[in-house]
Amino acid sequence: RRYRKTIIAGNWKMNKTASETKKFAEELKAILPKAKWCDVVVCVPAVNIPAAMKAFKDVRVSVGAQNVFYEKSGAYTGEVSADMLKDLGVKYVIIGHSERRQYFGETDFTVNKKVLAALEAGLHPIICVGESLEQRELGITMELIALQVKSALAGVPAEKVRKCVIAYEPIWAIGTGKTATAEQAAEVCTFIRTTVRHLYGARIARSVTVQYGGSMKPANAAELLSQPDIDGGLIGGASLKAADFVEIVNAAN
Ligand code: PEP
Repeated sequence: RRYRKTIIAGNWKMNKTASETKKFAEELKAILPKAKWCDVVVCVPAVNIPAAMKAFKDVRVSVGAQNVFYEKSGAYTGEVSADMLKDLGVKYVIIGHSERRQYFGETDFTVNKKVLAALEAGLHPIICVGESLEQRELGITMELIALQVKSALAGVPAEKVRKCVIAYEPIWAIGTGKTATAEQAAEVCTFIRTTVRHLYGARIARSVTVQYGGSMKPANAAELLSQPDIDGGLIGGASLKAADFVEIVNAAN
């Protein structure tokens, strides 16, 4: 673990207004331990990033975005560039979440372009990979994960890989209350590191943070986070309540 950061990141999805963001930050501040062994990130809706930057400033929580567009600027109505995020003080950006792949046409190709754009701007991409239930039952999980990881990292120079976080998020476990067992999660997270090792070598592979995501909650966080290749969590539902989120942070401590 000393080679890489443990990162607990909340993915708020399309939840909370700017005023609710402020309220959450106040609640968090009251209960978040000062000494933390992990980095804590909250990925908020883009429109609430300025409010979040202000609200979390004195809580030592980094603000992340949930998406980014890969072009630098121009006629792309409704999109947000990596430079715009960086300029607001954003540190992390989720890329390729399964909901974006499912509802917004995100593909391995666009994920790769977004990863390259994020790194170029100095952001840390949180790259989401994961299989559907059908793919797991077909026994093609590992092939799919390898493909997703290799595609996402295509063209990423060795010196920038350590800035990437990879989140293993089995689609069947997201928002379903069904968590992967610690063994299932650990198996794939270890495989993700092996894939990075094959691409970039052992030294870089051990410096990359690999998270698990999918119905992580206070009740299962400690067991998942104690697995040697699970260096943190990407948390949806349970990140919306300050008390639950802090319990997960404490499980990583
Ligand atoms: C997610 O969407 O990244 C996620 C893990 O959601 P949940 O924790 O709600 O399953």
